Amino acid sequence: MKKLTVLFVLFAACLAATASAKDWRSGIEWTEPKVVRPGEKYGDPPADAVILFDGKDMSAWNKEWDVKDGVITVKPGSGSVETKQKFGSVQLHIEFATPAEVKGKDQGRGNSGVFFGPYEVQVLDSYGDNKTYFDGQCASIYKQRAPQVNVCRKPGEWQTYDIIFNRPVLKAVEGKDPEVIRPAYVTVIQNGVLVINHHEIEGITFYDQPPAYKWHDERVPISLQDHGNPLKFRNIWVREIPDDNTKPKQTKKPYYL
Ligand code: MG
Repeated sequence: MKKLTVLFVLFAACLAATASAKDWRSGIEWTEPKVVRPGEKYGDPPADAVILFDGKDMSAWNKEWDVKDGVITVKPGSGSVETKQKFGSVQLHIEFATPAEVKGKDQGRGNSGVFFGPYEVQVLDSYGDNKTYFDGQCASIYKQRAPQVNVCRKPGEWQTYDIIFNRPVLKAVEGKDPEVIRPAYVTVIQNGVLVINHHEIEGITFYDQPPAYKWHDERVPISLQDHGNPLKFRNIWVREIPDDNTKPKQTKKPYYL
């Protein structure tokens, strides 16, 4: 009997709460999000993507590496390739495979990189026993941050990067390094796993000096590094995203309907 009474009181309380619940609205007047058709399956470009490589040719890039059977292979010694188009903040999808024939070690094994202007997301064969410094292994922000986990696939197997890059806002200062109004941020998902979570980029990812911001344009090319190893790339696309992630100005107070 006691149990029944408790249940009844709870039920009545729930009913009362439901009856008095009001619909709270933020008061922010959002503009209607644009409709964008997503790709058919994971990895396919959505309708608003800029295609950087779809298997045909490297016409979106400043020069050619080897293109065969829908795949780009780095031409060692030819230098890095960069997009003709320049970008600010972006979402990038790229697929890569480190060489199936394992050669070299440490930074000499399957090394390349995805650069947003001067900032590198490392590409390396970090599968198995290839030891290197952790903030230089695959999916690191070179010499700034090690990935949270190592989700590398075997040499020769296709891997994916989905990278969100928010450009820095720099103010030029005569004769000095620029003033950093807002640093760059980067998030990296490798093979569907979050490995770099909203890392605040500390500056250019130099090899031989600590990171530091140097002046560059708001929009920069995206480039792929030639580090002397014949990596493969395919299915590369990018979406421009808003530079500024702040909410619209509050035009009215929050209210209840
Ligand atoms: Mg590299």
